[in-house]
Amino acid sequence: MAVNTVASTTASDSAHPRVSLGPAVALSCRECGERIPLGPHFACTACFGPLEIAYELPEGDPEALRARIEAGPDNIWRYAPLLPVPADVAAKPNLNPGFTKLVRADRLAAELGVTGELHVKDDSGNPTHSFKDRVVAIAVEAARAFGFTTLSCSSTGNLAGAVGAAAARAGLRSCVFIPHDLEQGKVVMAAVYGGDLVGIEGTYDDVNRFCSELIGDPAGEGWGFVNVNLRPYYAEGSKTLAYEICEQLGWRLPDQLVVPIASGSQLTKIDKGLRELIALGLVEDRPYKIFGAQAEGCSPVSQAFKGGHDVVRPVRPDTIAKSLAIGNPADGPYVLDIARRTGGAVEDVTDAQVVDAIKLLARTEGVFAETAGGVTVGVTRKLIEDGLLDPTLTTVVLNTGDGLKTLDAVAPTTGPSAVIRPSLDAFRAAGLA
Ligand SMILES: *Cc1c(COP(=O)(O)O)cnc(C)c1O
Repeated sequence: MAVNTVASTTASDSAHPRVSLGPAVALSCRECGERIPLGPHFACTACFGPLEIAYELPEGDPEALRARIEAGPDNIWRYAPLLPVPADVAAKPNLNPGFTKLVRADRLAAELGVTGELHVKDDSGNPTHSFKDRVVAIAVEAARAFGFTTLSCSSTGNLAGAVGAAAARAGLRSCVFIPHDLEQGKVVMAAVYGGDLVGIEGTYDDVNRFCSELIGDPAGEGWGFVNVNLRPYYAEGSKTLAYEICEQLGWRLPDQLVVPIASGSQLTKIDKGLRELIALGLVEDRPYKIFGAQAEGCSPVSQAFKGGHDVVRPVRPDTIAKSLAIGNPADGPYVLDIARRTGGAVEDVTDAQVVDAIKLLARTEGVFAETAGGVTVGVTRKLIEDGLLDPTLTTVVLNTGDGLKTLDAVAPTTGPSAVIRPSLDAFRAAGLA
């Protein structure tokens, strides 16, 4: 054998060329720790457990890393050294999400009886008006690296729009799948970017099962499903929420975070992001609590938490918080672990409380949240009332989407104070002067 053939024996996956995604070095199993080379995989070959990205993160002076991040672009690519993306990611055509506002919410704090610092991380400011642009941006880089030409997903609404837009910008085809009965704002947004949109007659869980079948079928060959076969990459996008919150607090951990739960991926990766910042020395190591928020009509994780169970029993969703309506959440057990380990909790609120909370946030802070934001604000209020969330500490509540996409939630109880003829007499008679 010729000596110069040695290098080829280290090539990874047979079906895919060896890829380079920044500091990412492998996929590792969240259950058994088995490592496999980077590729479009989501289940462990040894135990079928879910996979996540393993890194060689930058070592050395935290001050230098902090300075490098602060000198980066005003979007998630400032954290590229901590993400599974190529070093030149910021130069490619993409939607550059992130670095959304952290709103100091003093008026909301006063209403809720919070005397500590209260902040709302407002991800409605992303390019397609939800947090999903973060996760999709990372998945697009993986799709490019693995040579996929069609971008796909199963979606509760926001993801479909984020994939459609990101694919349009990257010059990829998209074909996305949603439950057929979503809010009009989400359906239109998912379709307007010109990709294919397919409504499935069933729940999100039916859509997701269908997509898993499509991956194994020739009809889905060459397709990157951002939240299925690209899920380990996609999930890492949520870490940027943790990074931004800490940086925007002046490189400081909040004491408490209130995070919405659909599949639970976002919550688990926010925890991962916080632990990375501590390990890198970018923030001081002190305790933080993570609270999960669900709508009562789809609260399998909350029910398990309150029942003291380790297993999450699937439910059939029935709530206006459709973006969170996943009845069988893949990351449910990990969410339970994190809530318990950090001393947090998982709580749920009714649809009526969601609507009240949307209006409360809007009238106190000028932030119009989608139903998922109503869930987190409503749960925050409930946690304070129940004595589970400490109102004297620094708390960050996430708003992950835009109220304009879920107008139906508030339209029946929101409208003009009066409709009058254009005359001063009519205005005086309306009693608004
Ligand atoms: C998808 C989504 C979430 C969280 O989803 P996970 O599956 O738990 O990561 C939260 N809020 C909104 C608005 C969403 O669209």
